[in-house]
Amino acid sequence: MSTSPLNLGLTGWPLEHSYSPHLHQAALRTLGLAGEYRLYPLPPTPEGEAGLAALLQRLRGGELRGLNVTIPHKQTVIPWLDELTPLARGIGAVNTLYAKDGRLAGDNTDAPGFLADLKDCFPFLFSLERPTALVLGAGGAARAVVYALAQAGWQVKVASRRAEQAAALFASFAGSLPSIQAAPLEPGLYRLPCHLIVNTTPVGMYPNIQTSPWPENEPIPEGAAVYDLVYNPIETKWVRTARAAGHPAANGLGMLVEQAAMAFELWSGQAAPREAMRQAASLLLLEKL
Ligand code: NAP
Repeated sequence: MSTSPLNLGLTGWPLEHSYSPHLHQAALRTLGLAGEYRLYPLPPTPEGEAGLAALLQRLRGGELRGLNVTIPHKQTVIPWLDELTPLARGIGAVNTLYAKDGRLAGDNTDAPGFLADLKDCFPFLFSLERPTALVLGAGGAARAVVYALAQAGWQVKVASRRAEQAAALFASFAGSLPSIQAAPLEPGLYRLPCHLIVNTTPVGMYPNIQTSPWPENEPIPEGAAVYDLVYNPIETKWVRTARAAGHPAANGLGMLVEQAAMAFELWSGQAAPREAMRQAASLLLLEKL
């Protein structure tokens, strides 16, 4: 294990609202490790291409020990990498990079982070015989969520406001994960029975906190659990409505902490202090109230 400082960071665009530095700095502090977690904002390619290449060189050379990647580089960075974990290859996107013997490796902790928190929040879902889920949105986070659920044996319907986006997500997984379907975002969809509904759109996120990804005039299907990837505000309008109607509901804070903790463990080789990381994120959210 290297004894050099654990210099970590995040690249993407824009980055100014990221919670990641707070989570990882809390982890470094709690474990008493030397190091830092910095933001490396880089615009989309081709504009950001030279910056991305230089940053990856710093990772390859060991100056940086780990790098998180977010929008818009989760997929565009892949051609620069020497290897992908089977999970990152399956999802077709990375969020965690590190160098191994001078080779750049890409992994994805969004999918296991989501699944770990889902199990934590709704353990009863994991004893169902044929669990079914509806996923709203078909962007980057949806890829990880849909992949994680389908790999865990779920039947998954994915729906997006642009039908072609859900169709493209379906097409990219169709060969390997036959339990995924694309569905049009139309009134009938909201009435189909299912065990779990996941929001992967930013609808409801601060500052648009009065919006909801679920139509106001449609009840949530009976018995369905609700998971909103949005974590800011702590209780989104959709989560509040679902709870008021008696549905088990959770926001994405647990996923945020889990995906960060899993990345931190890959880089540090140590168990991540999840509680300290969660507290750091909760504190930020409370400051925004
Ligand atoms: P993304 O790649 O931009 O995808 C967003 C998806 O939402 C797209 O399908 C987009 O459709 C759809 N969408 C956007 N605005 C919409 C609207 N007003 N009505 C209906 N659909 C809409 O973003 P992402 O990376 O997947 O992130 C999505 C959300 O998940 C963000 O709020 C992010 O903060 C959250 N997230 C949370 C975690 C966590 O750890 N909790 C992790 C990742 C992401 P169009 O392409 O048509 O706009």
